Amino acid sequence: MSAFKTVRGMRDFLPEEAKIMKYIESKARKIAELYGYQEIIMPVVESYELLAAKAGEEVRLRMYAFKDLGGRMVALRPEFTPSVARLVATTLKNEPKPLRLFCLGSLYRYDEPQRGRYREFWQSNFELMGSSEPEADAEIIMLTNSLMEAAGLENLVFKVGHVGVLRGVLSQEGLEDKTENEVLQFLDKKQYDDAFRLVEDAGASQKCVKALQKLVGLKGSKVFEIINKMKESVKDYEKAVGAVENLQKILMFVSESGCEINMTVEAGFARGLEYYTGMIFEVYVPELDVALAGGGRYDKLIELFGGESTPAVGVAHGIDRIMLAMQRQKTRLKAKEEKKVVVIPIDDDLKSEALKIARMLRDADIPVEVEVMGRKVSKALEDADRRKLNYAIIVGEKELKEGAVVLRNLTKREQNTVKIEKIIETVKGKSRP
Ligand code: AMP
Repeated sequence: MSAFKTVRGMRDFLPEEAKIMKYIESKARKIAELYGYQEIIMPVVESYELLAAKAGEEVRLRMYAFKDLGGRMVALRPEFTPSVARLVATTLKNEPKPLRLFCLGSLYRYDEPQRGRYREFWQSNFELMGSSEPEADAEIIMLTNSLMEAAGLENLVFKVGHVGVLRGVLSQEGLEDKTENEVLQFLDKKQYDDAFRLVEDAGASQKCVKALQKLVGLKGSKVFEIINKMKESVKDYEKAVGAVENLQKILMFVSESGCEINMTVEAGFARGLEYYTGMIFEVYVPELDVALAGGGRYDKLIELFGGESTPAVGVAHGIDRIMLAMQRQKTRLKAKEEKKVVVIPIDDDLKSEALKIARMLRDADIPVEVEVMGRKVSKALEDADRRKLNYAIIVGEKELKEGAVVLRNLTKREQNTVKIEKIIETVKGKSRP
């Protein structure tokens, strides 16, 4: 036996799993079309500098980074946003706004492998560039809900927060960007005491620490009640109040759109990536303790990459985790089952005729396999049964002389002689044999 196996953290997707992945991808493409997002395809390898610029410690330390043979420091992309932001800062810089961009593909992070956490994983990614209006944030939340529903998932919970509230408090206290980011990292990991200590050590007031302590305790599904309490907790911090009002508008738009989304607001919620500046969110189902999707507003990134100041909001949907959630919820794939056919020549002289009939059926969009193992008809039929094909076309000398073949319905276990020109409509169910 071969000693080769997949590298730790990497997986093979066998046909059944690949089918679910492709199903989710097709739903994501459909949502992109419905919401007007254009698909782009970007490289897996990017410059390390671009990817590391604002990724946050968590992601930065887990990149597959290496020098290529030309001595360039590069990395496998751990996320899509820096690549999209690079495009918008360069090639697409003169495109009229808003720009709605969509991409699908694999990402790489050297995480500790466990259920729902892999070193190679897939995302569908939506970015809306050029608008700072709250309806843009609402759109990103709504399209995420549309995708989860299209995948057939139930009991979704959207956890929503706003980095601008926390950053508003910290910046008014004069904390440096770097310290702000460190505080948010601690909050992201729910290491609240470390966060408060850092704020104190950085010279912030007791009022600030109290406001933060209040904020981290504020969470719940009565979202507008929580929002009012948030406003009260940060009333002395002007920018933070503005951020709470922004969150309130976003969530009003979502709920007034008639989109029934189960939301909880968490005032102390922060996400690992440093580039967020506004609303942030994650999506959960009760069956899994990891997020199915995550996103938010990042108004500074494009400027940081040398582009014009461009507000932006986006989301990444974890396709592997959506698949896991579908398996846990026993979601059925709503795919149109196509009739599948095998063509079996009775002897060697009829092989070219079998290939010709197969081609004719494929031209009519019917999936066809040809018996290529040189087996007897009975063996080939047994195999077709095992693989749950619907029809077998048996090509024999006698019928062919009459311009016909034997069409066997493998489900009903009956067979008839059918004229070749009638096969397509018979298989498609438009004519009886
Ligand atoms: P992030 O880019 O960290 O905001 O992640 C967005 C989404 O990608 C998450 O909600 C997950 O669904 C998915 N994701 C992130 N990291 C992994 C991973 N290591 N394995 C599988 N899915 C992941």
